[in-house]
Amino acid sequence: MLQLFLPLGALGIVYRQVKYTLADMDMVFRLLETPQEVQDRPGVGELQVTQGEIRFEDVNFAYQPERPILQGVSFSVPAGAKLAVVGHSGAGKSTLSRLLYRFYDVTGGRILIDGQDIAGVSQASLRKAIGIVPQDTVLFNDSIRYNLQYGNPQATQAELEKAADMAHIRRFIDSLPDGWDTMVGERGLKLSGGEKQRVAIARAILKKPPILIFDEATSSLDSATEQAIQQTLHEVAGRYTTLMIAHRLSTIVDADRILVMDGGKVVEQGTHAELLALRGQYQRMWELQLRDDTR
Ligand code: ATP
Repeated sequence: MLQLFLPLGALGIVYRQVKYTLADMDMVFRLLETPQEVQDRPGVGELQVTQGEIRFEDVNFAYQPERPILQGVSFSVPAGAKLAVVGHSGAGKSTLSRLLYRFYDVTGGRILIDGQDIAGVSQASLRKAIGIVPQDTVLFNDSIRYNLQYGNPQATQAELEKAADMAHIRRFIDSLPDGWDTMVGERGLKLSGGEKQRVAIARAILKKPPILIFDEATSSLDSATEQAIQQTLHEVAGRYTTLMIAHRLSTIVDADRILVMDGGKVVEQGTHAELLALRGQYQRMWELQLRDDTR
């Protein structure tokens, strides 16, 4: 009987481990919002990032064939530059970042990184080159250390601390009774939206990707948190080619280029000053935001 119990006990441990791993895998897919529709072409090579230049060439895309979302979208982001994308809700802004990360394949046109079509390289090599700070970061049910280290499993404690400093999350971690070993996630300490976003920034910093996608949270963060996040981004942005999906225009005034999207099309492009001078959609959005901010 004892003999029977032992393997069953062991099985229980294995079962719990598998369940735990599956829960984490589920988290990974939720984290990546991966529909798993995109497949590597047989025998594809690796993306070779030399500079980190991004180019969208006449990109069309539809989630469902009968409903086109992006239509003829073309733009480029020089290596190390910061491109901000603005536009009304549903304009197609986040779709651009999903296509760049290749959650979906384009239905027309091409997306190139340093001249290489991203549809013709392995997804692993593409995703290695891109750090993503999503609107709503999902945390693993594990320690805060694990959650940061996920960006770079080889990172040392000193590197973790440096990234946490840069993401303005270090003081928060140090204030927790269990510090870096504090369990977070759905079954642990629940972090606020701003804290989670700073964990995601620290992860991205640790990954040291040549390209960074930042999807600004729509839900309003308190202004001190938002300022801290903006400050962080400002400090790190120069090192990466940055695609920033923005909801508040005040956060992107300094972008090298701003893309205004409407109904899946790019309707205006330029710097903040150029777009204001155009007296078009951007200028109207700016006026509205100023009015809201002074209310
Ligand atoms: P917001 O500012 O509200 O985040 P957005 O400009 O980022 O909006 P997208 O998320 O790119 O907009 O969505 C563009 C359009 O695509 C919307 O009409 C949306 O309903 C649709 N859409 C987004 N994701 C999907 C999906 N997974 N399946 C089907 N349609 C989708």
